[in-house]
Amino acid sequence: MCPSTLRSPWSVTTRNPYVLVILQSEVERLLAERAAEIGGRLRRGAEVAGLTQDETGVTVELADGSHVRAGYLVGCDGGRSTVRGLAGIGFPGTSATMTALLGDVELTEPPADGIFQERREHGSFSVMSWGPDWYRVLTNEFDHVAGRDEPMTLEILRKSLLKIAGTDFGMHSPRWLSRHGDAARQADRYRVGRVLLAGDAAHIHFPAGGQGLNTGVQDAVNLGWKLAAVVRGQAPDLLLDTYHAERHPVAARVLHNTRAQTALWRVDDHTSALREVLGDLIGIDEVRLRLAGMITATDLRYPMEGTDDFLGRRMPDLDLGHGRVHELLHRARAVLLDLGGLPPLDAVVSGWADRVDLVPARPAEGSGLGANTVLIRPDGHVAWVTPAGERPDLDALRTALTTWLGPAHAPLRAHGDR
Ligand SMILES: Cc1cc2nc3c(=O)[nH]c(=O)nc-3n(C[C@H](O)[C@H](O)[C@H](O)COP(=O)(O)OP(=O)(O)OC[C@H]3O[C@@H](n4cnc5c(N)ncnc54)[C@H](O)[C@@H]3O)c2cc1C
Repeated sequence: MCPSTLRSPWSVTTRNPYVLVILQSEVERLLAERAAEIGGRLRRGAEVAGLTQDETGVTVELADGSHVRAGYLVGCDGGRSTVRGLAGIGFPGTSATMTALLGDVELTEPPADGIFQERREHGSFSVMSWGPDWYRVLTNEFDHVAGRDEPMTLEILRKSLLKIAGTDFGMHSPRWLSRHGDAARQADRYRVGRVLLAGDAAHIHFPAGGQGLNTGVQDAVNLGWKLAAVVRGQAPDLLLDTYHAERHPVAARVLHNTRAQTALWRVDDHTSALREVLGDLIGIDEVRLRLAGMITATDLRYPMEGTDDFLGRRMPDLDLGHGRVHELLHRARAVLLDLGGLPPLDAVVSGWADRVDLVPARPAEGSGLGANTVLIRPDGHVAWVTPAGERPDLDALRTALTTWLGPAHAPLRAHGDR
């Protein structure tokens, strides 16, 4: 998508309208580094085997027989989540209808194009140049659903490629081999008491459009600041219910669009016709913008009370002259942008001074924001707004601050109290 398709700052709200490919191992390395930087402790090899929860916390039993006690437990333990099962959370959805095989390999006879995709009689395949001398090879077989624990080898991938493409492109030296299907399932509850789910533990689907890890990280971004506010004793436990309310519909939509994308890979004549019709439609800017907003989740709007169209949306990363909006969010606190300089907002905000930064600002000419004051939650979503030209309703601001950050002057809970 080219930048000229970005019309309003509230549509596809990104300054970076392109696909950025980063290996998942690299993303995980960066996240682990950041966690360590801010005092997090990663315990590798600690396998959850059991859990019990009571009014004050959760006790987790590890496979080595030891126990860990915490106020809350977030199960981020993948599609086969043990935590989900132990918490009794259902995982309804649709079973796999096809098998996809993947290999990061070297090729002695690579196709000429950097990205080569074709649909043929027995399935579809793609070959992508992934770096000097290595390629990602993928096949989609629609006449076979692999068993969950079937082995995966280079020879299985070669056989599949020979069947579908008629060549194995001289494939050898695999770095990574994987098999996945298009099973699409979602946890029916993201929270049971003090146990919550995030990432693949809460939703699985075919990896079309690169949405799985992104959706999981956004779950964590949505939940992290809420959990922190509750654990500190400043916000009520009820705030955690907004996690399911906001994030469940998001992953439901991802499951839906990945089912549609997988269907488009089928190799029958009807699907070919459907692809051509869609291909034509995608030539229309409006359609492309809608699909881009959906796949990137930049069009998200969390349900919030109020009629203003900005509410619940992701705040665009506007240039404020002395910095950008998203830089203000690096502290993981709420931000109240005062763009109009009207009434004394600092008097209102003083009760939440330990949780919100009041930032007077003037967006750069032509930003098209159309707002006087904007309360941005720590996850970057708009929680309250005054349209340009209107005076802020200070009572409504107090209500929004209380809803999302807890009551004014709320004391911090002493460490160890629950
Ligand atoms: C081929 C392929 C391509 C993909 N491409 C993309 C892409 O381009 N973009 C994108 O956004 N997503 C992509 N995804 C999806 C992405 O890989 C997943 O959504 C992501 O890995 C989910 O992360 P997670 O941390 O929730 O779960 P996982 O990555 O499954 O991690 C779960 C962790 O929990 C641990 N664990 C499991 N059980 C226990 C237990 N009992 N106790 C303790 N720990 C436990 C596991 O060891 C593991 O470390 C792709 C997936 C596939 C298969």
